[in-house]
Amino acid sequence: MPEGHTTHALAGRLSHAFAGSPVGVSSPQGKFAGGAALLDGLALVDASAWGKHLFVEFERERWLNVHLGLIGKFSVLPRLSRRSSRQVPVVGQVRLRLLNANWVGDLRGPTVCAVVSPEKVDQIQARLGPDPLRPDADPDLALRRILRSARPIAELLMDQSVLAGVGNVYRCEVLFRHRVDPFRPGREIRPTTWRAIWDDLVELMPLGVAFGQVLTMDDQVDDALAEVADGSASAHTAAVTGARPGDHFERRFNLYKRTGEPCRVCGSTVRTQLVAGRNLFWCGRCQRRR
Ligand SMILES: [Zn+2]
Repeated sequence: MPEGHTTHALAGRLSHAFAGSPVGVSSPQGKFAGGAALLDGLALVDASAWGKHLFVEFERERWLNVHLGLIGKFSVLPRLSRRSSRQVPVVGQVRLRLLNANWVGDLRGPTVCAVVSPEKVDQIQARLGPDPLRPDADPDLALRRILRSARPIAELLMDQSVLAGVGNVYRCEVLFRHRVDPFRPGREIRPTTWRAIWDDLVELMPLGVAFGQVLTMDDQVDDALAEVADGSASAHTAAVTGARPGDHFERRFNLYKRTGEPCRVCGSTVRTQLVAGRNLFWCGRCQRRR
């Protein structure tokens, strides 16, 4: 499932490709024909993300709300040939297509694709917890919800009303990075621990946006931060299309999908168990903190 960094990267690509001028909106598959007709020909104002929700503002206060869900994909690609044909071939089940002279955006398989009012946008956002990728995010709001709960912290991190945008990979990896026991009830988590997790996500998740992949290994994080600092990351960000995952760095994690393999720190066997509907990976020896 795409995590929040995917949605933020997508919002950036959509704004870059379409903001500021009228957009052709259609539903080649037909399922979104009514919604597309409400947006077709309107100027796209801006696209933004909150957790895994995408919000695209059009003129006349019309908003497009998209949630990619488990299998959804939204590719934004330059049109290869502008002259040869007005039609861009449709591949697969395209629910929504955005088109201008230079770009084509194709949305396939979303859980949510709807035209909504500004009030509805506010309602959806009010239900979501703070998103580490948004500058207006309030980590104390998440902490209050965590401290009120008897549910395990590994479950709370996946609850979008507690924390928005964190999916299974960031959950597993960030708990390991701070050696936190994933089964500790929220109310037993130390506020300093939460603060450290939050600050880490605020540093890690923008790297996910920049490179189109989740980076949590210390050496890769250091390299990625250096590439952001010296400006070379922007070329990779521009190359991320949404059509496939990023691959600038080797796909490598502390323990995600490493069941049965030795922990990279202590050598103990990496374990897995279903928590909040997804496989949690953890090290029982390293992760004792609360
Ligand atoms: Zn370990």
